[in-house]
Amino acid sequence: MRRASARASEDHTAASRRRMYIFVIGAGTLLLLLTALTAGHSEPFQRLIGPLLVVLGLVDLWWLWTGRPLNVAEYAGYGVLAAATTVHIALLSWLTTVPSSYPDSGPYWTLVCVCAVGFLAFPRRLAWWLNLSLLGVCLALPWLAHGLYALYHPLAFLRLQCSVVIVTGLLGTLASLRAQVNEKGQAEKVLQALAFTDSLTNLPNRRAVYPAVAALLEAQERGVPGTLHLIDIDRFKRINDEHGHAVGDEVLIEVARLIAACDTLPGSVAPTVGRWGGEEFIVVMPGTDRALSRQRGQVLLDTFGYTPWPLSLTVSVSIGSSTVRPGDTFSSLLARADQALYQAKARGRNRIVLDGPLASSLALTGAG
Ligand code: GH3
Ligand code: MG
Ligand code: MG
Repeated sequence: MRRASARASEDHTAASRRRMYIFVIGAGTLLLLLTALTAGHSEPFQRLIGPLLVVLGLVDLWWLWTGRPLNVAEYAGYGVLAAATTVHIALLSWLTTVPSSYPDSGPYWTLVCVCAVGFLAFPRRLAWWLNLSLLGVCLALPWLAHGLYALYHPLAFLRLQCSVVIVTGLLGTLASLRAQVNEKGQAEKVLQALAFTDSLTNLPNRRAVYPAVAALLEAQERGVPGTLHLIDIDRFKRINDEHGHAVGDEVLIEVARLIAACDTLPGSVAPTVGRWGGEEFIVVMPGTDRALSRQRGQVLLDTFGYTPWPLSLTVSVSIGSSTVRPGDTFSSLLARADQALYQAKARGRNRIVLDGPLASSLALTGAG
């Protein structure tokens, strides 16, 4: 249960990293286990560190499999593998007495894997520092300790070390490029969000509401009803003139909050609420017929009447509502809402007027 919910909440990249670690650690632990069972325990690393790594690998697998925090597994895994690799290279440098014909490259390729984990797990700059430090220590050790590999096969050994540096550098560069692409993607997302959000009220702006209106028209073709409200604050200019622009802004923010909060009735499809411009707002209500539209408008008008406003102001709105009809276009739907709004203003404000020839007889007023 815990595993399922923890994994479900993980984003796509974290989930892929977790899967990759499970695969790599699983394979690595199996390999270590097979080596421990088949090797003749001649190598000091196999005798001393190998079994410990098998146990830690199993713990790590359990940790990852049960959906526990990924970053803890990454940091701990990096630490353990970095320490084990350093010890392995130190043991090879100091304790090996008979040099083979070619240096044992195993721990150096493990070193590359550790660095890859570092690039995946840590922020870019920290990963480079940690990995370069680790590489520095592990590559210098055999020379400082006068390790036999380094002494007997200096050129072959140097070639191996150079390969490790090149592959690690390549991995680091790829990781940096990937991070840059991600950062650019994030920045684009933020810009996109800003372009579609009204900065004062935080509501979607006019551009962001267009797709919701288009969807309303499309839904009508499938027989799904839909309505929209154009909402305009009554005599808003007076508030600005008498109390200043800052108070006007405060009122706009509160109006936006009330419209966004008020227009969702239980059981109905969530409407899209946006700032249409200036002191006008739009509410697009899919799945809502004329009757429900009027009901929602009335609830909103009443809410304005009961809301305590700054400086004891009286704030009300007028609402023009249009219902989607067969053959409607974007502009015909909005034109009818605009006309209904005009009528609401003409009839004394603080009311909702529905579109159509019967609009006048359907006018309702608010509680304020
Ligand atoms: P009506 O009842 O006929 O709608 O009258 P009104 O005063 O609300 O309408 P009018 O169009 O005359 O004035 C709208 C005012 O809204 C004028 C403009 O300065 C103000 N306004 C538009 N955007 C903002 C804003 O972001 N902040 C503030 N404080 N005022 C705004
Ligand atoms: Mg207006
Ligand atoms: Mg107005």
